[in-house]
Amino acid sequence: MSHKGKLYRLEGVVLNRRDQGEADRVVKLLTAEGSVDLLAKGVRKPRSRKAGHLELFARTQVLVSRVTGSWDIVSQAEAVQVRARLQEDFRLGTYARYVAELAVRFFEGETEPQLYALVDDVLARLDGGAAPELLTRWYEQQALALAGFRPEWLTCVGERGGNLCQMPLRPRADDRRPYGLDMERGGAVCHECFAADAREHTVRPLSPSALSWLQTLQRRSFDEVTRFALPERTAKELAQAMEQYIAYHLERRPAALRLLHDNRG
Ligand SMILES: [Zn+2]
Repeated sequence: MSHKGKLYRLEGVVLNRRDQGEADRVVKLLTAEGSVDLLAKGVRKPRSRKAGHLELFARTQVLVSRVTGSWDIVSQAEAVQVRARLQEDFRLGTYARYVAELAVRFFEGETEPQLYALVDDVLARLDGGAAPELLTRWYEQQALALAGFRPEWLTCVGERGGNLCQMPLRPRADDRRPYGLDMERGGAVCHECFAADAREHTVRPLSPSALSWLQTLQRRSFDEVTRFALPERTAKELAQAMEQYIAYHLERRPAALRLLHDNRG
């Protein structure tokens, strides 16, 4: 009954994979046109020729056979960049899974060529030895902006006495009082608005250093960002603040993020 479907080519990054049946896998490929689930038959067999070309986080070119009413089937696969370190190093792999999961959860398969370029670039840098924590924080700011959740770090998003504050935020190392991160309003608040709103559960304190870093991460290229040293304390604060911010906007905490924190000890 079966007949060969129409063939088409795709290039994309393997974001995740799940086992299917006895020897198959369903592979989620992020392409410039969106993400797509494809069935890779027999790739869990020891002698599969396709398997090495459909590894997690690899950029790969596939020839796909269109199937009506089921997943389209990978007919041929040829890896362009394998990214072996992301498979071999558990810690790096955890960062890579987080990068992939944010892309999947924020975009849900929608068309976004810039997201594809971003994810491909970040995974290549992660595999190439870039500082994973700094790279992940930079990626979050870029991905949030592309997803339409761009946080406002430059002017206060607070509201006092029925008026928007909009105070320019210029954090300094000698600031004595904290700024705030307001999840609901989607950005940072000034000292005064933080003092007025601190009891709200969607507002958390933000140190001047963390706010200054968020402004930098959002506006600069990754190459520019690597010229500054991220202090350990600020790194921890940023990780926690962004986890909370992203969880608020995704409504539930990304599973890979949980794993990352459990491993950090
Ligand atoms: Zn304010």
